[in-house]
Amino acid sequence: MSAAIRTRADAEAEERARLAAWAQKSGDSRGRIYREGEHAYRTAFARDRDRVVHSRAFRRLEYKTQVFVPHEGDHYRNRLTHTLEGAQIARTLARALRLNEDLAEAIALAHDLGHPPFGHAGERVLDELLGEDGGFDHNRQTLRIVDWLEDRYPAFRGLNLSAETREGILKHGAHWPHPVPLPKRLASPSLEAQLADHADEIAYLNHDLDDGLRSGLLTDALLDHVPIWRATRAAVITHIGAASEAVLHAQTIVALINKLVTDLIDASAKRILASGCQSADAVRALPEPLVAASTEVAAEQAELKRFLYERLYHHPRVVASVQQAEVTLGVLYRAYRHEPHKLLPPQVTARFLEEGEARAIADYVAGMTDRFALAEHERIEG
Ligand code: MG
Repeated sequence: MSAAIRTRADAEAEERARLAAWAQKSGDSRGRIYREGEHAYRTAFARDRDRVVHSRAFRRLEYKTQVFVPHEGDHYRNRLTHTLEGAQIARTLARALRLNEDLAEAIALAHDLGHPPFGHAGERVLDELLGEDGGFDHNRQTLRIVDWLEDRYPAFRGLNLSAETREGILKHGAHWPHPVPLPKRLASPSLEAQLADHADEIAYLNHDLDDGLRSGLLTDALLDHVPIWRATRAAVITHIGAASEAVLHAQTIVALINKLVTDLIDASAKRILASGCQSADAVRALPEPLVAASTEVAAEQAELKRFLYERLYHHPRVVASVQQAEVTLGVLYRAYRHEPHKLLPPQVTARFLEEGEARAIADYVAGMTDRFALAEHERIEG
């Protein structure tokens, strides 16, 4: 092999030299459910990441609501842009903490694949509708998608991701029926999975602040009551001087992301060192996660989160679109259950025997984009 090419074996050797003792090395992966040959130059986790990006479920994220429905405007986040922002923060965290960036990125890119249309409202409605048929949970649905519902390979169903990426998607294990063996139940997920979770929260808190300000649902006067925002904004004004409101908002968010990420890196590094863990498996055996903000910043972040719940996620305008979503999904699910063979495409009814009618319909509804769900509602209600 020419030295001009970095092979997978080279990449695995580089990981062993470069990453921390407690990082998950791709060369130590517990492997995939179905055996496959290794790739010439991509590591196991780089391959997982690529499989997620090339999946159909990933493309559907573009048309799924984060907080604001698409007709409100073109600059708001959807679940795809949320996912990309979260994945970028995950890469930064992983790189700074000498953890496996490819694994953190694969988990972060996959983490929201199982979200039904219309954000968290959609999840709540499906969980109620499936109350007697095993309920609905978006992490479980993400695992169903990557393990079972994606259909791209001749030899198996799903994406056949590695055990570590699946473990990161599932987080804390599960007790529900699953079509393939579930990842092993662990006390804690890997550090890469832990940081992907935090990256998700840092991403959404900040972009929801941004979207909230853009929509006018949040204002400077309101945000003045949130200590972490007030302090960060004051520091930005001291630093950059006079600037337009748009630049001030943007720079405050830049500084806030930086503050949360930097604190998370510093506090986690201290905890990792204090734990004495010397391997990825030692981390998995711990009862408490090691990736966490400092006590002080965690409290400020929790206060910001509470504020967003009260003032943004429960704002009447957001609640109104949520209620509309609940009605839409309820109508669809009940109509499909009532007249499945008339209303559903044959590839869905064909799965009734294998999956049960409720689960097959839930998979179909959960996979819908917002706009497809609205179009179906229109078609059925006429
Ligand atoms: Mg998310």
